[in-house]
Amino acid sequence: MYQKKFDIIVVGGGHAGIESAYISSCMENSVLLITYNIKTIAKLSCNPSIGGIGKSNLVKEIDMLGGLMGKLADLSGIQFRILNSSKGYAVRATRVQVDNIIYRKNAIEFLKQKDILIHQDEVISLIIDNNVVKGVKTRKNIIFYSDIVILSLGTFLDSKIFIGNDYFLGGRLFDHSSVFLANFLKKTKLKSDYLKTGTPPRLSTKSLNFNEFTKQKIDKDFNLFSYFHKKKEFFKQKLLPQVDCYITYTNKLTHQLIQKNINNSPLYNGLIKGIGPRYCPSIEDKIIKFIDKSNHHIFLEPENLFNKITYPNGISTSLPLHIQKKMVRSIKGMEKAKIIYPGYAVQYLFFDPKDLYKTLESKYIKNLFLAGQINGTTGYEEAAAQGLIAGINASLKLKNNKDKYIPKRSNSYIGVLIDDLCVKGINEPYRMFTSRSEFRLYLREDNVDYRLMSTSRKFGLINDDNWAKFKFKMENINNIYNFCKKKIFSVSELPKNILKYIKIKNKKITLKYLFSSSKIKKKKIINFLKKNNFYNINFRYIKEVLIMLKYDPYLSKQSSEFFMLKYYKKIFIPNNINYYDISGLSNEVKEKLNKFRPVLLSQAYNISGITPSALIIILIYLKKKNYLK
Ligand code: FAD
Repeated sequence: MYQKKFDIIVVGGGHAGIESAYISSCMENSVLLITYNIKTIAKLSCNPSIGGIGKSNLVKEIDMLGGLMGKLADLSGIQFRILNSSKGYAVRATRVQVDNIIYRKNAIEFLKQKDILIHQDEVISLIIDNNVVKGVKTRKNIIFYSDIVILSLGTFLDSKIFIGNDYFLGGRLFDHSSVFLANFLKKTKLKSDYLKTGTPPRLSTKSLNFNEFTKQKIDKDFNLFSYFHKKKEFFKQKLLPQVDCYITYTNKLTHQLIQKNINNSPLYNGLIKGIGPRYCPSIEDKIIKFIDKSNHHIFLEPENLFNKITYPNGISTSLPLHIQKKMVRSIKGMEKAKIIYPGYAVQYLFFDPKDLYKTLESKYIKNLFLAGQINGTTGYEEAAAQGLIAGINASLKLKNNKDKYIPKRSNSYIGVLIDDLCVKGINEPYRMFTSRSEFRLYLREDNVDYRLMSTSRKFGLINDDNWAKFKFKMENINNIYNFCKKKIFSVSELPKNILKYIKIKNKKITLKYLFSSSKIKKKKIINFLKKNNFYNINFRYIKEVLIMLKYDPYLSKQSSEFFMLKYYKKIFIPNNINYYDISGLSNEVKEKLNKFRPVLLSQAYNISGITPSALIIILIYLKKKNYLK
């Protein structure tokens, strides 16, 4: 037995585990982090990148609530991009290619700065007394006691790796499988099942002919993830060298090879039981499901700045190694490619997230929290978000048994994630998309501070300086916002370069109207305001106000749709409805509705994967077809 009792023990040093440990320590708890191997803390098991559509919002929210992921991504970023940069702010997303070695080093540095003891060992069972967890027992036969245990075991529980017809124990290549703990947990009341995931072979960069690939250039203007990293300073002092990525494609020959060998793929010959991630399919899946497609994208991403290893994003596979070699070499520019290690699939045990409260505490074992891929999600960001919420709630519980933090669907993607998991559960690996939120026009990257900073401050996670700056900013934003809405000009006051765009000459015009005109350059209006000395305006914040003004009408439409949805949930869906006829629904939604054939709209909503926006589309369809009175 270890002498000291800890407040919180976190098992697993992956993306969920490090967030739980870090935030618990920030909230003044003594923390023990037990993980198989210290060197693999925060390891990116698959693609070396953070963010992307839907996921970037999670990272921004994690950052605002005191978490690590945004800071780590900035400090190890080697290619920052803004996805959908030509579209509206609600669908723009930051994505960062990271150096996966520096990412891990930085994670360990952050943990070291806190009161966290890191212990390298395997947890084999839990100490449970009267349905209350009291600690853990390890492979080295040490018993550690604590008030709370957080399990964030990722893909390691009872996990098997598959390459062709070979399989062996492992949660990731070169890592263990957590068999003892899986067997222990299977004997509790927690319900479990199997899922699977996969990864592509890693290639020697030297062996690729980059002249044959299309360069994906660095975005000149990009945002950092962390609100607390000041762009100018960061660029001068901390930004790593930025590198290009490349794009290539599979071809007819690649597809023929895969089709010919499909029976050697454990995904197709029945060796693997679990369901895989729909939105990260293997190349085998893509070729079988989209038989008419003549090629598929491959993004070539450097794993780190040394650039010895290239990650070919898009060809995740579990075919035998000799077929993988042939497949890779069938691709233009990869004719001489050397595989450093093979692609593979992993099958692993997960636990039903419906057995958790929305704090991520188990309904059956008190003081036990589960976070990350163990709850059926896929992705680093989804895992980190859960780790953070488990850590915050564990800490709140230790302070006062009644306190809890349940993030809301209406102000965060983290709220959507937790609510979807704990209420609907999952039947395939869950990843975040903007379409999962009925409030997606409000849940933007640019307003994460309005949405979450006061919550973070309440938990003691925002210092006085940042809080004062935020309050100053909000005051200014409110002033400008109200001024824009209320200030009225008579057209005679306006300068010629603005006036020429205004059609209704003899009317009075609000500043908001001017700003919402797509023809008048915002700069012209701002110059006019500046010249006329418009009191109180701190032009530093005008950009944010303009985004707010732009979204105002859409947000009122969104809330009326939301209320319409609440009202119409009892609506019957005709049983002859053909979901495949309804445009705008994703294939996932069509497939699931067709399979479950819900009778009421509310029943459709309870199906995992059916998004609120899908329900709105169905509602509009029913209205159009006169099914609604
Ligand atoms: P992990 O990051 O897996 O961390 C689990 C931690 O628990 C590890 O540190 C491990 O050592 C530790 N551990 C486990 N059992 C024990 C024990 N008994 N005692 C002590 N320590 C223990 N996500 C995507 O979004 N897209 C993809 O394409 C994708 N592909 C993937 C391919 C593969 C092969 C794998 C393995 C994962 C893939 N993922 C992908 C998933 C992504 O890696 C995970 O979602 C994410 O890492 C989950 O974070 P986590 O913290 O829950 O678990």
